Amino acid sequence: MNREQRIELSKKSLKGISVGDAFGESFFGEADQILKYIQKREIPETSWEFTDDTVMAIAVFEQLEKYDTIQQDELARQFSINHKLDLNRGYGATARRILREIDEGKYWKEVSQNVFEGMGSMGNGASMRVSPIGAYYFDDLHKVKQLAIKSAEITHSNIEGITGAIAVSIATAIATRLKIEKVIINSYEFINQIIGFLPDSDTKSKIKKSNSIPYSYNIETVKSILGNGSKIMAQDTIPFAIWCASNNLGNFEESIWKAVSILGDRDTICAIVGGITIMSTEEVNIPKEWMKKVENFEESKFRNK
Ligand SMILES: [Mg+2]
Repeated sequence: MNREQRIELSKKSLKGISVGDAFGESFFGEADQILKYIQKREIPETSWEFTDDTVMAIAVFEQLEKYDTIQQDELARQFSINHKLDLNRGYGATARRILREIDEGKYWKEVSQNVFEGMGSMGNGASMRVSPIGAYYFDDLHKVKQLAIKSAEITHSNIEGITGAIAVSIATAIATRLKIEKVIINSYEFINQIIGFLPDSDTKSKIKKSNSIPYSYNIETVKSILGNGSKIMAQDTIPFAIWCASNNLGNFEESIWKAVSILGDRDTICAIVGGITIMSTEEVNIPKEWMKKVENFEESKFRNK
């Protein structure tokens, strides 16, 4: 596969992220009302702007587009430039602090390691931006893991935050390869393949646990076992996102409706699920209505062409 084709695959996952992100963000509001929308499969009237998930994923994608790899110093700088371009994209408090300090000239490694009293961030923010790496290097899972770690460390030095990023990037890579090789595997096998790449951590344990949950389970039960990102940590976000994606390979639209139905950190969960499941289908299977409404990342101020 040549470089142009890899860039196209990577951009396809970025599109999946942006649609999921903007879709999920549309479902914040009064809980009863939101549940009615989901039940009726109606989408609230909103701007369909994407959030920090997509803004950061654009910068990750551009690293691959330019260098085939992740240059950490430059990616850190780009994250902070994009943050400053628009502060109102839903960044978490810790992310804001890290990006502001990088902008002030502090070294990203120190900043990233110092947060949470030296524990580093366990947040889900490294996972939400990582799919373009999995799509790009779908045929080299060790490379995917290595670059996922590099992209994560800039803001998430805790093993939980890093494990989430590895899991999402590997899931994206496997989904991409299955589609290209026209191979179908079940969700159990899909999750098992991911687990083999993960360091020991709570996130890994819960991804393992997800593999025993039938897809027919009530969403409240699934939430009580796996979480829904309401703590915005990797271990309460990524296990559900992986489980949701693995059960909806080949069906982008269905995967996003299922993702939003657990509520919680819904823009991020939908972004992660979308970045994975878009790789298991064709772009034309993104509903036309959604494509028409979503903010175009190619035309956005965050894109350096
Ligand atoms: Mg967001």
